[in-house]
Amino acid sequence: MSADYRPTPLDYMIREQIMGRGVSDPRVLAAMRGVPRDRFVPPDHRDLAFADRALLIGHEQTISQPYIVALMTERLRVEPTHRVLEVGCGSGYQTAILARLAAEVYAIERIKPLLDRAWEVLSELGVRNVHFRLGDGTAGWPEHAPFDRVLIAAAAPRVPRRLLLGQLADGGLAVLPVGEDDQQELVVVEREGAELRTTPVCGCRFVRLVGEEGFER
Ligand code: SAH
Repeated sequence: MSADYRPTPLDYMIREQIMGRGVSDPRVLAAMRGVPRDRFVPPDHRDLAFADRALLIGHEQTISQPYIVALMTERLRVEPTHRVLEVGCGSGYQTAILARLAAEVYAIERIKPLLDRAWEVLSELGVRNVHFRLGDGTAGWPEHAPFDRVLIAAAAPRVPRRLLLGQLADGGLAVLPVGEDDQQELVVVEREGAELRTTPVCGCRFVRLVGEEGFER
């Protein structure tokens, strides 16, 4: 390290917020280092791009806190051959990180301007292994199922059984928040045949999943 080395805000974010709280998977850390979070944040919030919090991205939605993105990604245990379904792509930040770890990412978002913007930023960054779809992600993407992994970035009222039994591969993992607005828990779900085994990770706070297996609104 040269004498004039200065850590960037991204370096600080990774060291303090992510490694400092116990995320240690080198592939996840490398993926987080490789994605410029500031590009996914609206221009008027750029000064907070690397802050330890979620930020508004319009349409009453948020880009998740960096730590929660890292934690969800680590718990998903994505491998380079995997095809991943992401429900609620929002800003596209989490999508970009998954795209560095997986073979293909299938990202669904229900709000068109957010989807368009995510598509634009990922295109500008040269990301080529993400497929975008507008609609209710709780219905999945049957043409490309089964998926090795499913990440849901909005809180479901309960584990979406039809989605996971219908579109998660046997032995596959899903990570998602479950619960009412102020009582949410991040969980890992493992599919074994017709069984879904749920393991709690921690309390969390996400926007609502809106759709057939989500909330009404
Ligand atoms: N990881 C994203 C999180 C965005 S917030 C980020 O960091 O930017 C969650 C997103 O889920 C919102 O954009 C919301 O519009 C979307 N969403 C909610 N219900 C959905 C559904 N049923 N299908 C697809 N997207 C949904």
